[in-house]
Amino acid sequence: MEKEKLEKYRQMLLEYRKRLTGDYEKNLDSANEEFGMEVPDINDEATRTMSRRLLMSIGDKSLDTLRQIEEALERIDDGGYGECAECESPIPEGRLELIPFAIFCVRCQEQMEKD
Ligand SMILES: [Zn+2]
Repeated sequence: MEKEKLEKYRQMLLEYRKRLTGDYEKNLDSANEEFGMEVPDINDEATRTMSRRLLMSIGDKSLDTLRQIEEALERIDDGGYGECAECESPIPEGRLELIPFAIFCVRCQEQMEKD
């Protein structure tokens, strides 16, 4: 895939991710207020526990999408974006326009949803 197109999809993916994690960060902000503390150190045990709890509050569905977005972004960097991760056939651009984080072709996706 051409570099400009990859870049376009990357921007779309980042936008999607921002929208998904936006809610998460809003939660984090209100959690900071709730606990009356800043979150200075991500290695801090309490912070980790809190993040986990908030992460769970995003919901499984969004988390799945988030994971797919991360994987699609990796594929943009490492190559293979726009190809099905399962059968390696090209994913139609019309599909990527709608779902830029699609990493499977329609056929494989349907197969997986059936299983
Ligand atoms: Zn496939």
